[in-house]
Amino acid sequence: MNIAIIGAGISAITIAKNLKNIANVTLFEKSRGVGGRMAFRLSGNYEFDHGAQFFTAKHQDFKNFIEPLIKKNVIKRWDARFAEFKNSTLLRETTWDSEYPHYVGVPGMNSISKYLSKELDVRLNTTVNKISKNSNNIWNLFDEKLNNLGEFDWVISTAPAIQSAEILPKYFKYHKDLLNKKMVSCFSLMLGFKKALPLSWDAALIREADISWVSINNSKPHRKKSFAMLIHSTNVWAEKHLSDDPQDVISFLNKETSRIIGYDTSHADHIDLHGWRYANIKKQSKSDLLIDYENRLASCGDWLTQGKVECAFDAGFRMAKEINKIKHE
Ligand SMILES: Cc1cc2nc3c(=O)[nH]c(=O)nc-3n(C[C@H](O)[C@H](O)[C@H](O)COP(=O)(O)OP(=O)(O)OC[C@H]3O[C@@H](n4cnc5c(N)ncnc54)[C@H](O)[C@@H]3O)c2cc1C
Repeated sequence: MNIAIIGAGISAITIAKNLKNIANVTLFEKSRGVGGRMAFRLSGNYEFDHGAQFFTAKHQDFKNFIEPLIKKNVIKRWDARFAEFKNSTLLRETTWDSEYPHYVGVPGMNSISKYLSKELDVRLNTTVNKISKNSNNIWNLFDEKLNNLGEFDWVISTAPAIQSAEILPKYFKYHKDLLNKKMVSCFSLMLGFKKALPLSWDAALIREADISWVSINNSKPHRKKSFAMLIHSTNVWAEKHLSDDPQDVISFLNKETSRIIGYDTSHADHIDLHGWRYANIKKQSKSDLLIDYENRLASCGDWLTQGKVECAFDAGFRMAKEINKIKHE
């Protein structure tokens, strides 16, 4: 059985790892690296996880999945000094610990997917633009230049729901469900400073403002020492300003950050911005897998449940289980 997986984020890699012994699995990823929204960027001396910041593990399957990666030092605990702000008022400070562990990839969030994809067939820099069935009832995938990417029995898309709806044909049994999964945007502002700001915390959750999160990336384990600050806008603010001039977005987010944390961030030595069109999704009420057995098409991702690394893993893990059953029927 030949299976094509669109994407190489954590849900795609989880599917591929769990199916590689029963099928020939090929992953197609439009970016130049794996990991998807578990993203990492190195700019000079400054390092940033500009997508997912950390993750927690609630369920046993995910705990089992991360355990060997912890042993291999690909995942480590981030015992951050954590602060909560209500607008510019600091409400409380605690330190994360082993009671409720917060994990990160080492040395970057994308390290997990990099490590896991070593033995997988991943085609990077390859955008799947269209798929169609040939006369033998086999799926052909095509890139933007209409290059044929190969023949497959099954196609599983892990691209954000709306993007999956653009790739998969309208007769995909769950096409409407894909269109109904509303994902929202987010901006990531990356600031590097020659001199550390004297903050009493490493990570801050901010409510009732236009930014929702500030973290000191170099406080995570095994990062470079250079002081690197990562700021997330709220989804609401990003939705309204996604098409704004990036310089205006940077200027606004800098002002908002300075106002809330009480230190001027506009003098940063390094400034970079990333806009996530499809960053996140609110908790969903039902999380059935979208598998069209008749057409041999399927789609999954964090958006089935909630914008969390564990939810993306769970979607991929359950998807692999279902496809495995078909093979053994
Ligand atoms: C700003 C931000 C902050 C976050 N913070 C946290 C956090 O602190 N904790 C947490 O648990 N979660 C967090 N998340 C959510 C977490 O990152 C996601 O839940 C998880 O990474 C999703 O994994 P996935 O495999 O489902 O999707 P993705 O990682 O999005 O993978 C999908 C992949 O498909 C590729 N793709 C899309 N279209 C195509 C195409 N046509 N052809 C080929 N490839 C394609 C994409 O490039 C991408 O690599 C955050 C996300 C964002 C954006």
